[in-house]
Amino acid sequence: MSKSADVPQKKNPKTLEWQALSGSHHLAPFSDYKQLKQVGPRIITNADGVYLWDSEGNKILDAMAGLWCVAIGYGRDELADAAAKQMKELPFYNTFFMTAHPPVLELAKTIAELAPAHMNHVFFTGSGSEGNDTMLRMVRHYWQVKGKPQKKVIIGRINGYHGSTVAGAALGGMQGMHDQGGTLPDIVHIPQPYWFGEGGDMSPAEFGIWAADQLEKKILEVGEDKVAAFIAEPIQGAGGVIIPPETYWPRVREILAKYDILFAADEVICGFGRTGEWFGSDYYGNTPDLMTIAKGLTSGYIPMGGLIVSDKVADVINEGGDFNHGFTYSGHPVAAAVALENLRIIREEKILENVREETAPYLQKRLRELADHPLVGEVRGLGMLGAIELVKDKATRARYEGKGVGMICRGHCFNNGLIMRAVGDTMIIAPPLVISKAEIDELVEKARKCLDLTLADL
Ligand SMILES: *Cc1c(COP(=O)(O)O)cnc(C)c1O
Repeated sequence: MSKSADVPQKKNPKTLEWQALSGSHHLAPFSDYKQLKQVGPRIITNADGVYLWDSEGNKILDAMAGLWCVAIGYGRDELADAAAKQMKELPFYNTFFMTAHPPVLELAKTIAELAPAHMNHVFFTGSGSEGNDTMLRMVRHYWQVKGKPQKKVIIGRINGYHGSTVAGAALGGMQGMHDQGGTLPDIVHIPQPYWFGEGGDMSPAEFGIWAADQLEKKILEVGEDKVAAFIAEPIQGAGGVIIPPETYWPRVREILAKYDILFAADEVICGFGRTGEWFGSDYYGNTPDLMTIAKGLTSGYIPMGGLIVSDKVADVINEGGDFNHGFTYSGHPVAAAVALENLRIIREEKILENVREETAPYLQKRLRELADHPLVGEVRGLGMLGAIELVKDKATRARYEGKGVGMICRGHCFNNGLIMRAVGDTMIIAPPLVISKAEIDELVEKARKCLDLTLADL
């Protein structure tokens, strides 16, 4: 492996070996391979609570909960024990062709208890992307059973993220993914409710209405008789923690009530407590017909996703004959056992109550203190989600064009024991739900230091 001169000396000889293996054999997701080969990945070796350690022994506060998923924090033996027990009892059996097993049935019941009252059915998958593929297949099946097979078009949003299978990429609105084979027919997109980036001279309230009205405009343009569903994240995550203006969801609800189309909420990030409620849809008072789940479902300890389905949709497809869809690992017993244990911990340890009443208000108050920093154009957040917009000019919201400020800041964070993610020049966080107030203090202090270092570089 070729190394550039500014790579610091390694303390652990294994670090270089592992980095070389990356260059020789590992094709990593969402990475620039040339750059990755030159620099080598940071090797994460172990974790506990909200902290990670890399192979050089550095301790890092993980303000992204892995990839939005490690809700209960790292190092919970109960989940490892639940997996080991299930592996010994029944490591695998499928749920195809009229079979099932206890963990998948118990988990479906538990999720139905937590979901909104009108949603009582769950289809399991191995990931969030597969959950959204399932959504697409299920809504088209639904309309076929209803005798309206021409209702196939799904409306998504520009800069939405719904995963990286072909259907996930196509439903999402990421141009870079569309450009690499991630498109499908009969999927269209409307603008996102990103006031800071796109609101122009409108107030947030006006812009929220405008963005919601784009949905109605698109339904009328495509024709209600052709539209199957609208899919949206309650709060866009990978797009940059985009919290819609308060007027947005109420106006979307009004529009959805006027037209006979299904509403799919992608709860892969918002689900299982990120907003302090069980689902982002609960937080906003939305009543979706379908909800995609993954990530927090197992706190990321093992892969699992799914689609929660309303009684309205289930009643139709229950009469629709074969649903020709499923995955080998749909409802995997070990994943189901881990999910059950994870949900037990979230409930019994009253993690959502603590987020709602204690730690989320504290995180939001402390994060907003960063708004006075000269590099910061806006700090926004909700529950255990936050975003910091880095700008050149606070008043005009103008960016440092072409400087890669977000990546500079992310580098400083990593080197100073903090993981924040950069989406363009927006720094985002989604820490484990169990982060304490003292750890929040550490997060905010480190973030300020890294903003200072970033500004000094510019
Ligand atoms: C992560 C994510 C997905 C995709 O989940 P995978 O498990 O990576 O397939 C889908 N939707 C949203 C909102 C996500 O954040």
